[in-house]
Amino acid sequence: MTKTLKGIAASDGIAVAPAYLLVEPDLSFTKTTVADTASELARFKKATAASVKEVEQIRDSAKKSLGEDEAQVFEAHLMILNDPEFTGAIETEIKDQKVNSEAALDETAQKFIAIFEGMTDNAYMQQRAADVRDVSKRVMAHLLNKELPNPAAIDHEVIVVAHDLTPSDTAQLNKQFVKGFVTDIGGRTAHSAIMARSLELPAVVGTDSVTKDVENGQTLVVDGLNGDAVVEPSDEQVADYKQKSEAFLAQKAEWEKLKNEPSVTADGKKFTIAANIGTPNDMQGVNDNGAEAVGLYRTEFLYMDSKDFPTEDQQFEAYKEVIEGMHGKQVIIRTMDIGGDKHLDYWDLPDEMNPFLGVRAIRLSLKNEDIFRTQLRALLRASAYGKLGIMFPMIGTLNELRKAKAILAEEKAKLTSDGVKIGDNLEVGMMIEVPAAAVLADQFAKEVDFFSIGTNDLIQYTMAADRGNDNVSYLYQPANPSVLRLIKHTIDAAHENGIWCGMCGEAAGDSTMFPILLSMGLDEYSMSATSILRIRSLMREFNTEDIKELANKACYISETAEENEQLVADLMNKVDK
Ligand code: PEP
Ligand code: MG
Repeated sequence: MTKTLKGIAASDGIAVAPAYLLVEPDLSFTKTTVADTASELARFKKATAASVKEVEQIRDSAKKSLGEDEAQVFEAHLMILNDPEFTGAIETEIKDQKVNSEAALDETAQKFIAIFEGMTDNAYMQQRAADVRDVSKRVMAHLLNKELPNPAAIDHEVIVVAHDLTPSDTAQLNKQFVKGFVTDIGGRTAHSAIMARSLELPAVVGTDSVTKDVENGQTLVVDGLNGDAVVEPSDEQVADYKQKSEAFLAQKAEWEKLKNEPSVTADGKKFTIAANIGTPNDMQGVNDNGAEAVGLYRTEFLYMDSKDFPTEDQQFEAYKEVIEGMHGKQVIIRTMDIGGDKHLDYWDLPDEMNPFLGVRAIRLSLKNEDIFRTQLRALLRASAYGKLGIMFPMIGTLNELRKAKAILAEEKAKLTSDGVKIGDNLEVGMMIEVPAAAVLADQFAKEVDFFSIGTNDLIQYTMAADRGNDNVSYLYQPANPSVLRLIKHTIDAAHENGIWCGMCGEAAGDSTMFPILLSMGLDEYSMSATSILRIRSLMREFNTEDIKELANKACYISETAEENEQLVADLMNKVDK
């Protein structure tokens, strides 16, 4: 039966393929006593042998599709499955305590995990806790006759269906076969959606129920333009979607003609359209889409994609690769923004009631100076290879900014006295994403070289609406006059103090927001690389004189976001004529 699910359009494009459910089965069990321990031992051994075979298969296909490095984790899993200390402890538990295999496995695994997690001074051993957890899950699934999803083993075209996708899940997906994804929860600015845009994968998020409405292998359409997911579409629907997809691709081809054209308005005013990236691998998309700068390099993915903290040299190489890849155009690299919905397997941080309001981004860096200093040194060294801007995320107070800048200055002085070359045109800036910083933008502007407005968080914190929670997505209003006033105040404060102001939140690539931001005089628009040519094309339609009044109207006369959306729609109608 065909079923259409409504969600949020998170990444442009349309795809049709069989569904692949990335959903964990229920692995709960009941502890029982067993009389026949010999046959229970045999049952455990059978489950372990089946797990070994399965992990070997996954390792082999991961090697082929993802590469040796990504496949390493499965070697670690095999070591645990073949480790007599681990399996022997479970077998002893079955024999001595006369309990079923599930209980023996669970109790033994918990003990091993506690020991590994207790080794707080050894990040490598702490990581083994995650391996034990993964391995026991697999053996448990075999004992309970349940199937675990194996994303690393996907070897045919699929659309991934999940409750939610963490950034590390997204990073593990093989782009050759994954044609799009659909989730139960999440909003347009959730990090999974941002990753989908940088991978150019069509995505629909926040459907509420896709994991319940579709089964493995059923045909699924992802319409990332309208936010629809269609389960078991009719032949007519498939033909219709194919046509829509072709129209979208034709439109993209038109935009592509602007790749080497400057970003100018109809009256010749020049602005910068930049790209947001997550890893040096995104540089291809940056150059293919004619970005004039990198306005945001989210370095946390470098930490999230490693098994341990990346070393100063590893970071230096990644930053240098991006800086050199831009051939003299500016690259803004943001210091790590861990916390919120971004975690590291190898860094066991305390659970928080409200992670987005907790120890996140610069707060975490200032609490862990050694990790912060390593990153700053790598950045300073890389600055010699082009035009770098270092940017601090989540700054809320001047004290935080001053502390971060002082640490940066100390590291710079140390490197200089060691004879290390630092770039001459290094800039230091901050994100404006905490409302307190936007309100005091006039004071912050005196202490930095640039601002970059992070609307994803600025809206979340201004409207008190979780950016990933679709139940409050109606409050996620970039065009709300309250948000616009903060943005305008920030841009004005920057200009009054002689610094430039960019925006790297998703609103910078939003067609409705664009004329309002242009009217405010925003200098740099940084967005997913795939949005660049659409915005460049739009920019060429506007004459700045004609929209001079728009900013004030949108901030001070309009009362709602809807009024502003209408204001822009009317304006576009006029521009089109
Ligand atoms: C933002 O908050 O707008 C931003 C660009 O940062 P991130 O999405 O990484 O939190
Ligand atoms: Mg942010």
